[in-house]
Amino acid sequence: MGGHSILYLGRSDFAADYIEALKASKACSRFSRSETLRVPAHDAANIELVLFEAGPGITQSGHTLKTFIQSLQHYPLIALTRHDQEHRGIAAVRAGAQHYLCVDDTNADELEAVFEHAIQRHRLLVTLSEADSTVLSILNSINDGVIVVDRAGHVLDINPAARSILALSGRQWPGPEWGQSFCSFATDGRTPIGEDELPLVKARRGQKFGNQLASYAPADGDNAILSLNGQGLYDAAGELIGGVVTFRDVTSLMQRTVELEKRAQFDEMTGLANRRLFITQLEKAAGRAQRSGRALAVLFVDLDRFKSVNDTLGHDSGDELLRQVSRRLTSNLRIGDFSGRWGGDEFVVLLEDFGEEANVAAVAQKLVLTLSEKYDVRGSEVYATPSIGIAVYPDCGETAERLIKAADLAMYQAKKRGGGRFQFYSSTLNAKLEQREELELGLRHALVRKEFALHYQPRIDVSTGRLIGLEALLRWQHPRYGLLPPARFLGILETSGLIHSAGEWIINTACRQLATWQHQFELPDLSMAINISPQQLRHGRIVDAVAKSLSDTMLDPGCIEFEIRDGVIVRQRSAELETLHGLRRLGVRLSLDHFGTHEISFNALDTGVIDSFVLDQSLIQDVESNDSHRRIVRAAIAMARGLDIEVAAEGVETITQLEFLRSCNCDLAQGFLISRPMQPEKVSAILRSEIAGTRLLSRGMP
Ligand code: C2E
Ligand code: MG
Repeated sequence: MGGHSILYLGRSDFAADYIEALKASKACSRFSRSETLRVPAHDAANIELVLFEAGPGITQSGHTLKTFIQSLQHYPLIALTRHDQEHRGIAAVRAGAQHYLCVDDTNADELEAVFEHAIQRHRLLVTLSEADSTVLSILNSINDGVIVVDRAGHVLDINPAARSILALSGRQWPGPEWGQSFCSFATDGRTPIGEDELPLVKARRGQKFGNQLASYAPADGDNAILSLNGQGLYDAAGELIGGVVTFRDVTSLMQRTVELEKRAQFDEMTGLANRRLFITQLEKAAGRAQRSGRALAVLFVDLDRFKSVNDTLGHDSGDELLRQVSRRLTSNLRIGDFSGRWGGDEFVVLLEDFGEEANVAAVAQKLVLTLSEKYDVRGSEVYATPSIGIAVYPDCGETAERLIKAADLAMYQAKKRGGGRFQFYSSTLNAKLEQREELELGLRHALVRKEFALHYQPRIDVSTGRLIGLEALLRWQHPRYGLLPPARFLGILETSGLIHSAGEWIINTACRQLATWQHQFELPDLSMAINISPQQLRHGRIVDAVAKSLSDTMLDPGCIEFEIRDGVIVRQRSAELETLHGLRRLGVRLSLDHFGTHEISFNALDTGVIDSFVLDQSLIQDVESNDSHRRIVRAAIAMARGLDIEVAAEGVETITQLEFLRSCNCDLAQGFLISRPMQPEKVSAILRSEIAGTRLLSRGMP
């Protein structure tokens, strides 16, 4: 550091003390002055640095600041001003000076760095091609921060935008060590970036890069995240002379992105991972499980009767309950277990590294217990038990989708078994549930595709053996499984709500068929028993459907008998009773099906709502061997006699059974002994022979 040969252009009385100090400093080896504001010809070659008084003297000499600086462009220039007139220094730098100093506010120690910088920056500008200088001057005026360094890492230029982004004051000039620490941490503000990856280092080595994110820590204030681009700087001969880095502050943009990402991955209400994030995590975990052979299980948690909380306490309380459930869920899992909200009142949990399967059961049991404990929801005591389905990798599925589906199916099974429990997925369970899903889907189209059919089973008068009526029995001609009995699909029809439209079709079809037969064979008393499901009684629309069928067919309502199962009448629920009375008012008969398999109320039997009952086949089937069943059947028939109620027996398969029924004065009988349920064409043939006098059961009848 030998000091520089300095020329000062300006008044001698301007900052005399400062000039004296400068002359004496190590930064200056030779000092000369010119008050004409021009470089003396004899000095021109030796001058390394020109300092000038950025004051009114320039304009007095006939220059504008700009023309003055241009006339001196062969020299590195530093403007001198005073602190209270700092704007003059800034204007000088804008006009092309390399730097400015406030003479009343400059630390002598800084001088060397400032001079060095001015010389280097000037050298760079001189070596830059014209195009590059234009680019640099444009960069100076843009909003992006720009830093120019030479090959050794000296900062040669920092534009105003960079100063403002980096919170550097106008006169602060970073030394070479600053270039090493500039943006040396990743966006988290903690992870150090290796030297080869530092933006300024890469740029001065001629590496081009774009949108590199890094964190910048200002001397005071919060860390900023910068997005940086960089590349080498070359002289006119194509030689690398340094690098330029441009950047912008993307802190708030990043914060917003993080927020949006968070929102896209987490459930806002509970803060748990949402469906998307959970699937991503599960996919990763499945990949890990495949590679390492480590255990993996998915738990699908659903709250039992959550809907009633929503309905009775309101949605805000429902939300509050879900928040509490999610907190209990996470606090009862180990660190590393991952939980999410699947939607509504459904939660999902991912367990890894749990050793044996029994440990998963233990976790599930713990969750069942803790989630079942009392909740305090806005002052109300609330209980919500969970149903949990468990799927273990790879037995229950190897992909995220399969595992979740399996856990969901198992949960469904747990719920079916009463809820408040957990259930492991199994392949048989899966087959069963998959078939159920398939049937439910098929049932939705069965009506329009005309896949339903009614078969009819004859019912005879026990005393005469005459065919007096038929029972309509539903069948489904399934495109894949063939003809299905009601046991295979009735439950699905009932729970899916499809029973209403199907039921109306049944009533309509059976009534039309009966009307046809009555006319065709002149059998005006021929009757038809039609089964109805309890669900149908909860809606009044069945009454309208029956009324319409009766008026369409002009049938005598007394020929139609509706068979009701379950203890509907016993429970005396008002909606259902109202429907029953509605049907009664139409004049149709009502019958209690499967008599003997559910509780009965004698009171209900005596109200006159019921015209008949059908003794269940389980009672009939062992009258031959079971003495107690014989006594029950006899007593039931005697009771019906006393109440003036008609009795039919179903499931009659043997002559002995029929004879026993006759001995008890049972009115009607139906069963395979007499005939199996048949397609309508076959029934027509039987009715034809019936009027010709040939009984269905000529054998064994008196
Ligand atoms: P259900 O009303 O007791 O009908 C009699 C059932 O016993 C019929 O079964 C019939 O095929 C069967 N069966 C008749 N005789 C004998 C016999 O001698 N031995 C044996 N083992 N079985 C006999 P299916 O057709 O499978 O119907 C089963 C149940 O499904 C019916 O019991 C009824 O509760 C219900 N169901 C049938 N059709 C309908 C319908 O259209 N609507 C509604 N809601 N339920 C129906
Ligand atoms: Mg029946």
